[in-house]
This record gives sequence, structure tokens and C-alpha cells, in this order.
Amino acid sequence: MWRYREALPVGPADAVVETLSMGEGMTSLIPQPNGNVDIDVRLKVDFLMPTSSYKDRGAAMLVAHAIRVGARQLIADSSGNAGTAISAYAGRAGLPCTVFVRADSSAKKLAQMRSHGATVVEVPGTREDAAAAAMAAVESTHSFYASHVFNPFFIEGTKTFGYEVWEQLGWAAPEAIVVPVGNGTLVLGAARAFEELLASGEIGHLPRLIAVQAAGCAPIARGFEAGTPVVAVANEGTIADGIAIAVPARGDQIIEAVRRSGGAFVTVDDDETRAAMDNLARQGLFVEPTAATPWAALLRLCEDSSWRPLGPVVLPLTGSGLKAA
Ligand SMILES: *Cc1c(COP(=O)(O)O)cnc(C)c1O
Repeated sequence: MWRYREALPVGPADAVVETLSMGEGMTSLIPQPNGNVDIDVRLKVDFLMPTSSYKDRGAAMLVAHAIRVGARQLIADSSGNAGTAISAYAGRAGLPCTVFVRADSSAKKLAQMRSHGATVVEVPGTREDAAAAAMAAVESTHSFYASHVFNPFFIEGTKTFGYEVWEQLGWAAPEAIVVPVGNGTLVLGAARAFEELLASGEIGHLPRLIAVQAAGCAPIARGFEAGTPVVAVANEGTIADGIAIAVPARGDQIIEAVRRSGGAFVTVDDDETRAAMDNLARQGLFVEPTAATPWAALLRLCEDSSWRPLGPVVLPLTGSGLKAA
């Protein structure tokens, strides 16, 4: 992803990038082959990353920044792929890292964090309780808060997803991008990339951002539909746990980005997600449930509506099925 360093907040000859990079980014963009839908769909295989999710884009950028500002220890809060990605890049940088997680987090992802050398602190309660514990620890230990939610450098990293799509489509914007949304780190990164490209005259239109939430936890989709600010919801449970964010800190910002793009929100239920996951797996693409939600959304959009996009529609495949198998 560092091919786009001139568009990123790093110096052009930054040695940190050379030593920290594990080859993240520039993932393949492949056609969706088997005629389930009659539109031009391209899948960006973003689970082909050092820690098997697109979060490596944000983690690499964030840890590069932490090194540049002289951080001596990192604190993060994430029970999922963000926590594993930050743990891995902290390990690569030789920086101590503590990750605050919910007590009922996936054992596999916690094992991955510990393997990378992170200290994992299990906090009873919700994700928000884990975040509060992390922030308290940041204050008391003067650590660097490596938050994928609040730290804008994380989104600078995920921005490379958009730049790569632009390059891979022959320096053009797709018609739409269908993207899973919880805290919005990928959708906001994609929005930022294409808004920068539009502002610099490289593209003539923004891709529509189709934001996908799980029906069991869809506070941003609700706010979008109601035309009101986002309010917290109770997480009713979903297999798409990577996007089950009941209190999304950037919710209103995400709605604005989707609106500016002329996009929309779609919610999918767990049966649709399961079917989409099986369907992708039969095509050779083994993804975790969260990563199947865009495919579920696209299948429904094509079925229910007269939506016939004029150009290519891009779907990221955000996380590997091996983590959830
Ligand atoms: C984190 C994650 C998402 C969504 O990211 P947000 O930043 O919460 O919007 C999607 N898919 C996978 C596999 C993830 O790990």
C-alpha cells in the first residue's frame, strides 16, 4: 500500500515504512464469475493480508505514525481484527502493546493477539466498557492510544483501499462500492480516497457508497433512514460480529459520507449472510460472516430492485473465513 505514500501522512523516504511493512495492500481485484447477477461485479480480496483482514492497512499506517512520534507503548481496544492487526504491527515494530477486549471475545482472535506478544486485558461488559478501560489506561500510563475508531491515521491507512481500486480499474472510479460498516473505518477510508481523487481532478464522479449493516445491530442504517442523528441501539446479536457496533462513534460522519456519494444503506439478516458466505465459499472464497454481508446485500439489491449500475461495482472481502471456521 506504500506505493501511495505520497497521498499518505508519511515522509517520502520514511525508513519506518520499509522496516514495518509486511507487504500489506495491493490485493487482487477479481471478477465475480458465475452469473449470479447480471452486473459487472469485482471482488477485492482484502483478506489476503499479513493478518488476514483489511485492518492491516489501518494498523500499518497507525503504527508507522506511532513510531514517528516516538511512542513507547501502544494501547488498543478491539476484540476482533483491528486488535489482531495492531498487535501484529506492534510486534513487528518491537513496541509493547496492550489490547483491552470484552470478556466474551473470540478465543481465536485473542490467541492471535497473544501470539504477537500483546498483553490482552479482558474487561467485563460491553465493547464500550473495554474502550473506557483502554482510555483510562492511556491516561494513567501516558501510552499511545492506537484506536482504530478515533485515531485518524487508521483511516488514512484504509484510504489505500480506494486508491488501489482506482488504479486497478484503469484510473477510474467504480459505479458503486458495497461495504460492511460497523465503526466505519473502511467506508470512511474509501470515501476519503475518492473525495481526494475528485478534488484533484483524477476522477469525474464519486462512487456510490452502499453501506451494509447487520439487521441485529444497525444504528447507522436507522439514523440514515430516519434522517436523524445516530442513536445507540442494543445489539440483538448477529453472526456478523465484526460490524455489530451498537454505539458507533463516527456514525453521523458515516451518514454524511454516504449521502455525499449518493449512496444508501442496506441491512441484511443472518440467513442472508450465511447464504452469501456459502455462495462465496463455493466460488473458492472463504470469508468470515461479516465479510459476506456485502455479497448478501448485492444479491438482494439485484433481486428486489431495478438497480442496474452502469459501471463496475466493487465489493471488498474484508476478512478470512479461517478466523471464524
Ligand atoms: C472491522 C471489520 C469490518 C468493518 O469495519 P468497521 O470499521 O467496523 O466499519 C468489516 N469486516 C471485517 C472482517 C472486519 O474485521
